[in-house]
Amino acid sequence: MTYSYISHLYCPKCSNTYSAKEQHHLCVCGSPLLVDYKLDEIKAKVTREEIAGRTHDLWRYHELLPVEDEQNKVSLGEGMTPLIAMPRLGREMSVENLYMKDEGMVPTGTFKARGAAVGISKAKELGVREFAMPTNGNAGAAWALYGARAGIKSTIVMPVDAPLITRNEVALSGAKLYLVNGLISDAGKIVAKAVNEHGLYDASTLKEPYRIEGKKTMGLEIAEQLGWTLPDVIVYPTGGGVGLIGIYKALKELKVLGWVTGDLPRLVAVQAVGCAPIVKAWEEKKAESEFWPGSASIAFGINVPKALGDFLVLKALYQTAGCAIAVDDQVMIEEQEKIAQLEGAFICPEGAAAFAAIRKLRESGWIQEGETVVALNTGAGIKYPDTVKVDVPVLEIGDSLDGKVTN
Ligand SMILES: *Cc1c(COP(=O)(O)O)cnc(C)c1O
Ligand SMILES: [Zn+2]
Repeated sequence: MTYSYISHLYCPKCSNTYSAKEQHHLCVCGSPLLVDYKLDEIKAKVTREEIAGRTHDLWRYHELLPVEDEQNKVSLGEGMTPLIAMPRLGREMSVENLYMKDEGMVPTGTFKARGAAVGISKAKELGVREFAMPTNGNAGAAWALYGARAGIKSTIVMPVDAPLITRNEVALSGAKLYLVNGLISDAGKIVAKAVNEHGLYDASTLKEPYRIEGKKTMGLEIAEQLGWTLPDVIVYPTGGGVGLIGIYKALKELKVLGWVTGDLPRLVAVQAVGCAPIVKAWEEKKAESEFWPGSASIAFGINVPKALGDFLVLKALYQTAGCAIAVDDQVMIEEQEKIAQLEGAFICPEGAAAFAAIRKLRESGWIQEGETVVALNTGAGIKYPDTVKVDVPVLEIGDSLDGKVTN
């Protein structure tokens, strides 16, 4: 049995092709590379029914993933997260068919584990012994931990301001961890130098082609969980844009396979008002974004001032008649609280931004009555202990709640 139907790597900018049997990073033209599969063969040999009976993780789609030998699979059970109906929130914002794909439940508490699982597995297959990457926190945590599981060493560089919890995750994994007095872009420059001088495998966002493949499984799962139908709209909190590029790629592959039919969902990129390069480019109908100076947001996962794959994100928006929209930090926090109160879900600020965007798009009429809308909650709220500020009364020993409790 063929485990993967990977065929080769190709450049979405200049169409150069590369072998998937050796290590490659960017195309000679500077563009990220994408993975191609022998979809005709998958179509002839694999059925949707067969997939239904497989393990409940992202490896159920192994034919559409790049790892050729199952022995190289490095897994902590990631993927196949629940697609949860949000009826009370949906009613409140007049989106009756509202769903949350909850990525807070994967190992390390964010969907970054999908990219890490597939990226690390493929790195193992390609003989990588040590990798390096810059990170805002969540990606570094996932890659360092999956690296540890694979026995691959890691060097991680993150801003001193990156969340303490992600710093601890990386440190505990045994990675070589460095903090930089600067931004993720400054961490990136230090990593690029180390890669050049010491021959480390560069696992920076989109500088290795396989992280997208892990993240694309979110798109495969949404289709499968909706009974191989597609929603009208998918809303994604966008930083580097890897998840959105991946979901778009997944949906196109499913169409070629004939596993789904009809129009692709309109894809929506959500950013923070304090860091919205994709939104600006989309509003100006540009093909690429510009560096966003002085970027800032509590939603650190989407605080990316310039993404290497911006042109791929924008293409996905234009091709699906989607849009890009920015949400204020304060609005994210209010939405996060509303979701906890109406649906019992403690989601991350990035996920809350997606729901706040849906609310705005429904109010403007961009989302129409009766449409099915899926929001990605990209991580668990508990990874952001300092985002929530509460004021709680403190009792003295022996105090009573008389007059305070309402029944
Ligand atoms: C990284 C991250 C994002 C953004 O993901 P991209 O695929 O890089 O756009 C969103 N939310 C969280 C919680 C993240 O960690
Ligand atoms: Zn190229």
